[in-house]
Amino acid sequence: LGSLSYSWRRRESLLITKRGRQMGILVENVSKNFGAFRALDHVNLEIKSGSLVALLGPSGSGKSTLLRVMGGLEVPDTGTVWLGGKDATYQPVQERNMGFVFQNYALFPHMPLYQNVDFGIKIYEEMHGISDPEQRWKRAYSLLRLIEMEHLSDRYPGQISGGQKQRVALARALAVEPRVLLLDEPFGALDPNIRKDLRGWLRTLHEKVPVTTVFVTHDQQEAMEVANEIVIFNEGRIEQVGTPKDVYDNPATPFVKQFIGSTN
Ligand code: ADP
Ligand code: MG
Repeated sequence: LGSLSYSWRRRESLLITKRGRQMGILVENVSKNFGAFRALDHVNLEIKSGSLVALLGPSGSGKSTLLRVMGGLEVPDTGTVWLGGKDATYQPVQERNMGFVFQNYALFPHMPLYQNVDFGIKIYEEMHGISDPEQRWKRAYSLLRLIEMEHLSDRYPGQISGGQKQRVALARALAVEPRVLLLDEPFGALDPNIRKDLRGWLRTLHEKVPVTTVFVTHDQQEAMEVANEIVIFNEGRIEQVGTPKDVYDNPATPFVKQFIGSTN
């Protein structure tokens, strides 16, 4: 029994982002100015724990700024950001337990894929004051398996496609066992066909690893196909929050109606 529970514990510790570890986000009355320009204007938004939410809107509407405020990369001028029920408005980014993926691949070109993922796990170990190289190697491998790329673990970033690079970037973001995943136009630099493939792929990944995911895009179709809930931005304000069906069938404002291209 002792050895059974030991091996179970080892298996448990290999699980990636366990259910129940994710957290919700509450944005309360957040404004952010850059000089005289108001990028966010009294934004209120609740993102439920474990959800998959798209921030959708035209270029310059404030989507990335809100994502950066949630991630602690930007401090709001006014308002409060709550993470998992705690006021995190001024909490430093490295204490927030979030994973990030941005548009441009941030993989290290001189490292094979497994080392790129391993890098994320090292950060996790440093945060938690642990070091277990054997366990770490297994975790890197299980993360590569999660993105269905374990057979490419020895390749270098220069030897794989753009879509595969973004999948590895997601695996590395998950390596820190984040409670929230923040994705800023993660497929933005890829060609349209690869972007389409990645939509379904991201949904499937979220089913396997149901961490709270906030996803920025300016592409209506992408938001409709990927997200469970869509937040529509215009000029630093939220016009509507709803399911893809809600915003399509019942646009709340003329802007939403025009932007979503609804015929209602
Ligand atoms: P989106 O992601 O929706 O395209 P952003 O949130 O990146 O929009 O930007 C909103 C507006 O704020 C843009 O007009 C942008 O130029 C401006 N902005 C964003 N970040 C900065 C910054 N660090 N300094 C000055 N202006 C900024
Ligand atoms: Mg942006």
